[in-house]
Amino acid sequence: MEKVSIFGVNIFNIDFNEATEIVKNFLKEDKIHKIYTPNTEIVMEARDNEEIRAIINSGDLIIADGIGLIYGSRMKKKPLKERVTGFDISMELIDIANKEGYSLYLLGAKPGVAKRAAENLKKDYPNLNVVGHHDGYFKGTHIGMKNHEEEIQVIEEINSLKPDIIFLGLGFPKQELWINEYANKLNSKLIIGNGGVIDIISGDMKRAPDIFIKLNLEWFYRLITNPSRIARQMAIPKFLISVMLDKNAVK
Ligand code: UDP
Repeated sequence: MEKVSIFGVNIFNIDFNEATEIVKNFLKEDKIHKIYTPNTEIVMEARDNEEIRAIINSGDLIIADGIGLIYGSRMKKKPLKERVTGFDISMELIDIANKEGYSLYLLGAKPGVAKRAAENLKKDYPNLNVVGHHDGYFKGTHIGMKNHEEEIQVIEEINSLKPDIIFLGLGFPKQELWINEYANKLNSKLIIGNGGVIDIISGDMKRAPDIFIKLNLEWFYRLITNPSRIARQMAIPKFLISVMLDKNAVK
């Protein structure tokens, strides 16, 4: 698998169809696979944080969930094929699960949100087996309370239900820390840290309209609809300047 390393984060150089093939194969194997979906902001954090960088690089699939990463890779003539978002791969996983009978567990978001997301999925995908859900505000590793009884209970519940696929939406870096700690204890085939995907499926949060996504302006839509994100949005220009100034940024 060809990878493009951006500030030490080894991103798979694949398009959406190739990513789909990879996840289908993961589901055929009887072991857990970890999927991470770094964007520009996460790569900047990983550049300065060896632990986070190592965690992401230990993923079985690492996709570029940010247009800034694509631009950065092109600037250094090591172009990533395309942006492959955690959202799109998650929706593809739902489709595969619906058609092929894999089960799904939703873990994350505020109380009630995962339940609403599960209900929406059952409406839209009649064959989909959503075996369970839990909010993301239990005590555990992701908030520095490793092995807390609440976290152990969540793991026991998941393992009793044996979902093939787990969506974990705790935001970065909580979901990455949690996956890294517990993936090997889960009787599942695939876990993806996918941020706000559960919020989007529940209807609590909207994704940008298609036209913004097609024009690679999803970041702009987020900015105009939620200006308080300005500090976070600055991650993209900061990232591109850092890539420009560092001759070893992309390998
Ligand atoms: N979240 C969670 N548990 C936490 C912190 C966050 O389940 O301890 C959820 C939050 O409700 C939201 C998602 O994680 O559904 C993304 O959260 P946030 O907006 O903080 O993440 P980001 O936008 O930074 O990825």
